[in-house]
Amino acid sequence: MPRIAIAGFQHETNTFSPLPTHLEHFEQADSWPGLTTGDDILSVFADINIPIGGFMKATKDWDLVPIIWASAEPGAPVSSSAFDTIAEKIVSGIANANSLDGVFLDLHGAMVTEDFEDGEGELLRRIRNVVGKDLPILVSLDFHANITPQLFELASAIVIFREYPHLDMAQTGARAADLLDMLIDRGKPFAKAFRQVPYLIPLSSQATQAAPIRFIYETIPTLINGSVCSADAACGFPPADIRDCGPSVLAYGTDQSATDAVADALLNRFLEIETQFEDNLVSATNAARMASSHKGSAPLVLADVQDNPGAGGSSDTTGLLRALVSAGCTKTAIGVFYDEAVALLATQTGVGTQINASLGGRHGDDRDPPYEAVFLVEAVSNGRFKCTGAMYRDCDVDLGPMTCLRIVDVNSDIRVIVSSKRFQCLDLAIFRHMGIEPTEQSVLGVKSTIHFMDDFHPIAEKIVLVEAKGSHPCRLGSVAYKSLRDDVRIVPA
Ligand SMILES: [Zn+2]
Repeated sequence: MPRIAIAGFQHETNTFSPLPTHLEHFEQADSWPGLTTGDDILSVFADINIPIGGFMKATKDWDLVPIIWASAEPGAPVSSSAFDTIAEKIVSGIANANSLDGVFLDLHGAMVTEDFEDGEGELLRRIRNVVGKDLPILVSLDFHANITPQLFELASAIVIFREYPHLDMAQTGARAADLLDMLIDRGKPFAKAFRQVPYLIPLSSQATQAAPIRFIYETIPTLINGSVCSADAACGFPPADIRDCGPSVLAYGTDQSATDAVADALLNRFLEIETQFEDNLVSATNAARMASSHKGSAPLVLADVQDNPGAGGSSDTTGLLRALVSAGCTKTAIGVFYDEAVALLATQTGVGTQINASLGGRHGDDRDPPYEAVFLVEAVSNGRFKCTGAMYRDCDVDLGPMTCLRIVDVNSDIRVIVSSKRFQCLDLAIFRHMGIEPTEQSVLGVKSTIHFMDDFHPIAEKIVLVEAKGSHPCRLGSVAYKSLRDDVRIVPA
């Protein structure tokens, strides 16, 4: 029975984000569980859609040594002390687990720290220092990983989510288990190949259900056969001004030339689709105009793609809200604003009261002003509820004090959901637990880029990706990158 140490350390770093990332952000529960150690990992992650959960389920007969799992909401580079603290727990946990046959790490792949552009590569370097170069280390990464040559070299093998929205996180953990099993049986390293794609793709153009990215992920399964046992592609996380930002592909097998050929084929697929990306963003003014004239029987869903907290946005920009009010939109609900002060005020004054408040606009140098208005407090909660969509199904989230506010305005009818912790608006339960039935709205605003699509697409008449202010840039041509590799093209601009 293989004896395998398991750990997780997840952060998607947006180097343009105004939100800091400290140890407390890894410790607290939010959309995912808080920092978890030891045997608690076996129960906390058993049934949720997360790589370590899928890995554990696939290896229930193995002797697992759970060490630590921690994740923080995407934001600015991880503080040195947070990184060192969690990395040290992982490294010492592995060092103290005797007679290991392997290690499984549930990582994101786009972690930048105050000291290291490649947080995961640095973690692997420290682990290799104590286990040596031969112990199998299997790593699962997010679809949005910015993979460095260092990480590729130090990991025995890497598997990556193949869906955006990420419905296959647990499934990816299970693939990691299969690959680790093969590696242990083989008793020697795989042949492996890694290629970096020479252009960036904004998250707003990365949905795997849509062309042209769909063609990449349709190709992958057709390439895995014979002497090639695994291949994957990461689409990269562009709001990271680092050398190795961008998409990449990798493959593992038993024959080097066949493995190289698969990596080359996947790289070529990326090059073939490069000219097929379209400008799919609509200005907030035009989106609000569409919203005010929307007469359909199902909601028009407007995604505030550049203020997505799941990509490091502050989730409190007011551009889309302001446009919807100006256009006189009715039967409209928008979520989720991150504003702890307003959420607290509303929960203290209570349902049925009116409050004067300055909503949002609290973070970043180039921020929208707060939205100042009188609001009617329609609902309050402790922010604890269960998600119901496929991506976060059965996850117990904890967003702190929350409220649903109705803007007191004779010319519009707009409600806003406000939370005390950031959470991407990707699940219908967010609206329902605050008393808003999303299917009965004419217009829904969501601070999300792509993840909302899985739960919201079935109830939407139409989806529009809206370009308003936010610290998650999707118009990459206007980003002042300084650190990219010389050969990286910032397209589609
Ligand atoms: Zn992702």
